[in-house]
Amino acid sequence: MLDVKNMTIDELENHVQSLGEDRYRSSQIARWIYQYRATSFDRMTNLSNKFKEKLRNLYFVSVLTPIKEMSSKDGTHKYLFRLDDGNLIESVLLQEVDHLTLCVSVQVGCGFGCKFCLTGKRGFVRNLNTAEIINQVCSINDSLPKNGRISNLVLMGMGEPLANYDNVLKALRIFTDPNGLQFSTRRVTLSTVGLVPEIRRLGKDIGINLAVSLNAASDNTRDSLMPINRKYPLGELLEACREFPLSPRKRITFEYLLINGINDSIDDAKRLTRVLKGIRCKVNLIPYNEHPGSGFKRPDDGAIDRFQKILINAGYTTTIRTTKGSDILAACGQLGSSSPDY
Ligand code: SF4
Repeated sequence: MLDVKNMTIDELENHVQSLGEDRYRSSQIARWIYQYRATSFDRMTNLSNKFKEKLRNLYFVSVLTPIKEMSSKDGTHKYLFRLDDGNLIESVLLQEVDHLTLCVSVQVGCGFGCKFCLTGKRGFVRNLNTAEIINQVCSINDSLPKNGRISNLVLMGMGEPLANYDNVLKALRIFTDPNGLQFSTRRVTLSTVGLVPEIRRLGKDIGINLAVSLNAASDNTRDSLMPINRKYPLGELLEACREFPLSPRKRITFEYLLINGINDSIDDAKRLTRVLKGIRCKVNLIPYNEHPGSGFKRPDDGAIDRFQKILINAGYTTTIRTTKGSDILAACGQLGSSSPDY
């Protein structure tokens, strides 16, 4: 039996045609699943009984239900899901001023070993399939009170999205398909540690927002924080960013985790202004979330302001991300650390 949620709507079209039906039936099925949340073919009243019978014999529609929900003082919610094989993943719903953003996981664990990240400490277990990625969004959206709706998605939860390229690309297609979950491409952001060939591939495949977890402006510092930098050093990464196709009003977001004494000096800020030259971008500064067992410290507010001013004075739009959900270990780099098996 195949899960329909593991197929893009184009792939579903091929399956529908192989069953002797017209291709437009795939859009009808997709709308039932993604817009009316049908989990059984019996509900699909515009399909013939004969066709529904064939579908029932070959396919199913998966669902995912959170086994635990935790709420932070600041309105952030963290959801824990148990997958069919027993593995656990987490998603985080962020309450912004006027909208809800869901931070979606793409892998169980992560193999990239960034030094500041708790998710990476457990190592890589497996990739999520497309349905497991999609179902985090469907499930959490459906649990919201009436009128609540997730409007923005960020692939910044557990795992590296570009290391699970095929499943993630299919999920992105379903998120943004008019017959799928209907998210605007302007409201979907993929965040990566910097897998250069996949960044180039993504730019050709789909027009969503790109965020790059940069965290250093020199190879020495970045090597010490993010092992991936030894494979794809800053120069190569920034060249791929420079060449990333952007529609007129889009910019790449560079995330920069500010860590006391590691990457928060005046020289670091000045170096950053130089290496980003020529890239249409904005910078999101994220003061480090201290947690037990991590050797890193958050810079003081003065150092954070000073760093931001240097970037702003050099012409970069620079925001400081307020830490959300740290009391429930839902903040950046903390996912996967509170669930019982971790
Ligand atoms: Fe993996 Fe992202 Fe954590 Fe790095 S920051 S270890 S890529 S989850």
